[in-house]
Amino acid sequence: MDCLFCAIIRGEIPSTKVYEDESVFAFRDINPQAPTHVLVIPKSHIPSVDGINGENAVEVANIFRVIPKIAAAEGLSNGYRVISNCGADACQSVKHLHFHVLGGAQLSDKMA
Ligand code: 5GP
Ligand code: ZN
Repeated sequence: MDCLFCAIIRGEIPSTKVYEDESVFAFRDINPQAPTHVLVIPKSHIPSVDGINGENAVEVANIFRVIPKIAAAEGLSNGYRVISNCGADACQSVKHLHFHVLGGAQLSDKMA
């Protein structure tokens, strides 16, 4: 399958990994929008939030178990933002579910 993030998980495209376990992979965004900008993704190919279902929800839950650990490891003790863009109106550019973890500075009080 021609998926950029699946290729990153397989190591075919280099990335700066910050976390990996059986079902979750996390790496630094190539174009950071904040001092810390990590992408947290499931290892299995789920296209977007729209693709979350009863069968893969455990993997998504695992992502949310991992995010606080990554935030702590990144020193985001003053807070952080978690975003997932889903579909065209949200400008989702990579069709593999990912959660942006943004922090390390005061973020905008506007989300869109
Ligand atoms: P989206 O726009 O789909 O919500 O987010 C996709 C994110 O993937 C963007 O923030 C973009 O900078 C990041 N990205 C795109 N290609 C690469 C890449 O090859 N490596 C890394 N580390 N991040 C990428
Ligand atoms: Zn994929």
